[in-house]
Parts: sequence; C-alpha cells; structure tokens
Amino acid sequence: NAEPLVVEVESVELPKRTLGEGIRSLFGAPVDREDLEDILIRADFGVEASVEISEELKREANRQGASSDAELRLLLKDLLAKKLTRSDSALNLASGSLPYVILVVGVNGAGKTTTIGKLSKWLRDGDWSVVLGAADTFRAAAVEQLGTWADRSGSTLVRPEREGQDPASVAYQTVEVALSQNADIAIIDTAGRLQNKKDLMDELGKIRRAVEKQAQIAEVLLVIDSTMGQNAMAQAKAFTEVAEVTGIVMTKLDGTAKGGILYSLQSALDLPVKLVGVGEGINDFAFFSPEEFAKGLVA
Ligand code: GDP
Repeated sequence: NAEPLVVEVESVELPKRTLGEGIRSLFGAPVDREDLEDILIRADFGVEASVEISEELKREANRQGASSDAELRLLLKDLLAKKLTRSDSALNLASGSLPYVILVVGVNGAGKTTTIGKLSKWLRDGDWSVVLGAADTFRAAAVEQLGTWADRSGSTLVRPEREGQDPASVAYQTVEVALSQNADIAIIDTAGRLQNKKDLMDELGKIRRAVEKQAQIAEVLLVIDSTMGQNAMAQAKAFTEVAEVTGIVMTKLDGTAKGGILYSLQSALDLPVKLVGVGEGINDFAFFSPEEFAKGLVA
C-alpha cells in the first residue's frame, strides 16, 4: 500500500523563508503530489536516510493503520524526533573546573564569530562571566568583529598584539586572562583555513596544547553553514578528523528549507548537533531540540 507515502507538496522551487515556514511548505498546501522520499532528499536528508525514513514510516503506518494526512505527519514527526535524539546533545557546562574552555572551529564564513557572539550573550544573560579569545589572527577584520560581539555581550576580549601572531599564544593568553578574572567560560575563535589538512591539524593541535597547559577543554564546536547542503559534509569530515570535535553548530537554518542536512551530518559524523543559528541577530540561536525541529519539519 503506497498510499500513506504520498503527501501534498508545493512546487519544487523553495522560496527563502524561515526554517519552520520553509520546511512546513513542503508538507503544506497541495500543488503537486510527490513521494515522501523525494521530499526528504530535497530537504537534504541524503538518499540513504530518506529511503530508510520512508520505509520506516510506511511500516509504522501499516502497523498502526494510520492513513490520514494528520496521522502520517504525527508519525513522521515522532520518527524524526526519535532519530535526531541523542543523549549527548547538551552543551558540556557542568563538569570539570572553571573556566570551561570552548574551542570554535570551522571554515571561514560558516558563522563561527556570530555563533560566539550569540552564545556569549546567552551565557552573560545567565550571569556567566565570559572571555573571548580572537585566535583567528590572520584576519584583522575577524578580530574586530569578535570585539564588537564582546562589547555587545559584555564579555572580555583577548586580542592578538599583531596580525599573524601565533594563534596558540592568543589561546594561551585567553585562558590566562580567564583564570586571572575567575571567569566561568573562555571561548576561542580559530581561523578556518582548510587548504591543507596537516597545517590545520598542526595549528589546532598547538592551540589545544596551549589551552590544556592551564585548563580542560569542555567543548570543540564545529560550525557548519547549513546552506552548503551536502557539500558541508566533506568539510565537516575533514575537521572531525583533525580537531577532536565534540559537537556541531548548524548555522543559517533560517535561510534554507534544507534542514535535513542536520540529520545527515549528525548521523554521518556520529556527533550531536548542539546549537542552531537561525539569523544574524544576537538572539537568533537555539539549543537544538529534536522534538521542536521535527515539529517544524512536518507541522
Ligand atoms: P566566520 O567566518 O565563520 O566567523 O563567520 P561569521 O560569523 O563572520 O559569519 C559569516 C556570515 O554569516 C555573516 O554575514 C553572518 O551574519 C552570517 N551568519 C552567521 N550565522 C548566521 C545564521 O544563523 N543565519 C544567517 N542568516 N546568517 C548567519
């Protein structure tokens, strides 16, 4: 019985909308009829997962005798939420001694600096004291940008003394300042150069060692631009091979209906998505909730 797999969708061209609106439109007002598999593939779940999810939905729908649109959506939502749920998706801010050090890695333009700004604001709102380290020392603009976020969030900025200064020395100083201020959190912005895996590995390794002389690393967050779709996968894999990543931040989920990439990455990399970015503003981020996300996908 193929009937339960058919859902109503809008035309193929997806307009730029918010995540909820964009993806909701996939299951919205009828214009076309398409197979769920195709919809999931278009939303960037990847072929394998799309087939798997469709099959599971079909099985579950048959088992439960579900066939109405509403019943199928509910089943699909529960199925997606279950698949997206991991026990390690919370930010690790509860164990070890202060300061909690968070390294932020990812290619240029992914949204590292913006994410740090948003996260530091959220932490400051929760009365955590925060020191930001501008270890992306090769771009003066990156340092200035981080400085702006530090001002806006009320965090301390540790900046390089000169352009091109060893990023590891900035990372070291950041932790040193955090310790001297009894700060709760140190967040270190790194350069996103990926032209050479060995260089990247050397640089991140050096930063790690500099930090670990004084403190433990609580998180290594890999920031990924969700609008890169499946192309983000190769980049992400390269980083996970060199950086001991502990969690993913998916940015720009506001500008795409392709939220399935979140599922693809989480399962392919076997890493939790911890935060999502949904805009350029300081409050435009959220801790990842599988339930909310799945709801947005099929509501
Ligand atoms: P970095 O080079 O990795 O530090 O990237 P930036 O933080 O400088 O971000 C690159 C661009 O992406 C900037 O124009 C940001 O405003 C934008 N950006 C970052 N996160 C988001 C997001 O969640 N949504 C949207 N729409 N834009 C974002």
